Amino acid sequence: MALDIDKKQHNAFADLILPLPIPKLLTYGVPPAASPMLGSRVIVPLGTRKIVTGVVAHMHNHPPNYPTKDILEILDTTPILSATQLAFFTWMADYYLCTLGEVLKAALPAGLRLSSQSRLQLSPTADLTRIVCSDAEQQVIELLQKHASLSYTALAKAIDRKHIPGVMKRLLAQKVVLLFEEVQEKYKPKKELRIRLAPPFVADMSQRQGLFHQLERSPKQLDILLKYISLTAQAPTLAVPKKELLGTTGSTAALRSLLKQGVFLEEEVIVPRISPVQTTPLPTDTLSAAQQTALDALYQAFKTHDTVLLHGVTGSGKTALYVRLIQDTLKQGGQVIYLLPEIGLATQMVSRLTKVLGHQLAVYHAKYASNERVEIWHSLLAGTCSLVVGVRAALLLPFHNLQLIIVDEEHAPSYKQTDTAPRYHARDAALMLAKHHKARVLLGSATPSLEVYYYAQIGKYGLVKLTERFGKAALPVVHLANLAAEHHKKPLYGEFTTRLLEAMRAALSRQEQVIVFQNRRGYAAYVLCIDCHWVPRCTQCAISLTYHQSARRLVCHYCGYRMCVPPECPVCGARRLKNVGFGTEKLEETLQQCFPDKYVKRMDADTTRHKQGYAQLLTALEQGHVDMLVGTQMITKGLDFARVALVGVLDIDRLLYFPDFRAHERCFQLVTQVGGRAGRREKQGQVIIQTQHPQHPVLDAIVHHDYEQMYRRELTERATFWYPPYVRLIKVTLQHVDQAVVTAGAQELAHQLRSRWEERVLGPQAPCVARVKSRYRMDIWVKIPKQATSDRVGAKKWLQEVTYRLLRQQAYRQLSVIFDVDPA
Ligand code: ADP
Ligand code: ZN
Ligand code: ZN
Repeated sequence: MALDIDKKQHNAFADLILPLPIPKLLTYGVPPAASPMLGSRVIVPLGTRKIVTGVVAHMHNHPPNYPTKDILEILDTTPILSATQLAFFTWMADYYLCTLGEVLKAALPAGLRLSSQSRLQLSPTADLTRIVCSDAEQQVIELLQKHASLSYTALAKAIDRKHIPGVMKRLLAQKVVLLFEEVQEKYKPKKELRIRLAPPFVADMSQRQGLFHQLERSPKQLDILLKYISLTAQAPTLAVPKKELLGTTGSTAALRSLLKQGVFLEEEVIVPRISPVQTTPLPTDTLSAAQQTALDALYQAFKTHDTVLLHGVTGSGKTALYVRLIQDTLKQGGQVIYLLPEIGLATQMVSRLTKVLGHQLAVYHAKYASNERVEIWHSLLAGTCSLVVGVRAALLLPFHNLQLIIVDEEHAPSYKQTDTAPRYHARDAALMLAKHHKARVLLGSATPSLEVYYYAQIGKYGLVKLTERFGKAALPVVHLANLAAEHHKKPLYGEFTTRLLEAMRAALSRQEQVIVFQNRRGYAAYVLCIDCHWVPRCTQCAISLTYHQSARRLVCHYCGYRMCVPPECPVCGARRLKNVGFGTEKLEETLQQCFPDKYVKRMDADTTRHKQGYAQLLTALEQGHVDMLVGTQMITKGLDFARVALVGVLDIDRLLYFPDFRAHERCFQLVTQVGGRAGRREKQGQVIIQTQHPQHPVLDAIVHHDYEQMYRRELTERATFWYPPYVRLIKVTLQHVDQAVVTAGAQELAHQLRSRWEERVLGPQAPCVARVKSRYRMDIWVKIPKQATSDRVGAKKWLQEVTYRLLRQQAYRQLSVIFDVDPA
């Protein structure tokens, strides 16, 4: 629907979100005949040559203080974004200091995205009869008459390249040709071939008899006919999927021949990717007395609070309570989001949920194929989907009647987006989204984050506890194995203390499963020349390379750079290179040597890179085909297996002394979670932690399953040294290829920020890895006092302004900046 672009009289304006890195919305005129709706996509001119797509964020009648251009076309007759979404996205952009365009980019599946490939088309208003043009220009016009539109590159191929700039310039100036950003409707519906019996054979039994007779001598064709009849026994006119009809044994040639004879008809239909099947749900589990009490307490707490924390120990059966709340909400016609920190966890959870809910359930993941994401988007717009299980991006979907958000494993660091803007925390964003919908939020964890527990303590959130495990299971017994003491006695076998080895041997002999936790993948931490102490490092990052045995390569965990292990030291020429430290790969090897007749498996980013890798491991574990599992933090969450009796935790000291104000909290969470995999059924499980520091108070809290002890200690520290929940942290990172420039810029910025926040500005300091992908980095931390919201907004605005003013200076033009609000 092209609109008249020459009218200059306006009384309607639209503010648009454009796919550009600009902080402001741009205002366009709305032609009289048009009435775009909030949340619809439109096409507009930008500058003199470009045409881009945008989304309508506001409609009003206040002309801006610049001359406006008109909207050219409206792409959607019904909005693709709701008003609530727009409000939520605006909050997100403001709070996390990014642009609305960036939020939109994260939210929209590629199939709906505002794309940016330049294309040319003839102007619908140009009068071609009145134009005098050169041969080359005529050629371009003819090409464009033939094709509705062409990409710039396609055009350049078609006519002599050197003429293009001049030709285009003239045609554009005369408004004969328009240049626009292509809106690619990349979404493609899924189609399926179906086969149905031709009508005569359906209606007339004697015809069908004749058919059988006729096919007697072609057994393969007869097979297909019989299969068809058995598949359609219930509904004789049904078309069956071709794939299903052929199965693994059916003959394609035989079917082709049947189609040719007119026995069967073939048709193509559009089928949904997200299955709308409603299965009959299994009866829900009967709750234990403790669970029932907790459920009652949850309903009670929701009467006075919109947000409630469920603090339930590992294995207490929090999922059973989630299911009750979900069922309740669905029954009332409300929509539910079930958030998980990682999509890998969804596999187990989705099958658990589908069994009891029997309800349409959509799984949402940003990395899913765009087509599936588009279908979920549309089915939510159409109101045919009521439960979404997904990772953080699920919050950005178009809900219209959201009533409940469950944030499972609320404490998980992966809820924070770190790599690209918007750098949002899904738990916090969920709270805000719920506010927009007047929905409730249930935060669940065995090891709540300090901030959340604090808010529950001061009464901002409701708090419900579940302190016992479900069934006869007891919490595991936790022991510390003193590495320092053992080193004196005798050398370790591999990295294992005698205590842990003995316990493993005993568990395996009882046919029980063992989990070994080591939070580092790869084989060796790094490689070292014994003679000159040379260590291979990444060429682009300030970090040593990790040795991966299976790939026989040294790998950079920051940028993926890989190199072969040199046969000799490039510095001194010696051939004595040594592996230092150990990762999961090495442990897997050691354990296999130690227990040659047992199945040892590894779960880390390397073995689960492919979707199937993870699923296969889970199945193997479930069916008991794994005796020992070695893994990184991936194994800490959600795994629920019957025969795990022993968990070994290695290299804990590295976590304890990690330079981060959350190190102790994280350590407690990780170890408690991984230990929580042990003894989830009748037998009591055991956890053995190897450490050099058995006196450490955090380890003491872990041994005694004493969350409160860790909480109180850490909270005091946070108060003393000004950390969340007492202040709001913002990390500003500057980057540049030149170290001197980034250092000078960061110092200048820190200096200016101190004029307002004084000692609440930390740094600048180089992060742990000071150079990544050839760019040096400097961090500045700002601790903003928690006061009235208005002041906080003011503080952030000021921070942004000061930073951008600095970046406008000649010397710092090339610096790039990242704001990370509430860094994880
Ligand atoms: P959490 O998430 O709290 O660690 P889960 O929800 O995974 O615990 O539950 C632990 C185990 O107990 C699971 O195997 C689960 O199937 C079982 N379980 C929990 N509640 C019930 C119940 N009411 N009836 C039967 N089994 C239950
Ligand atoms: Zn050397
Ligand atoms: Zn690197």
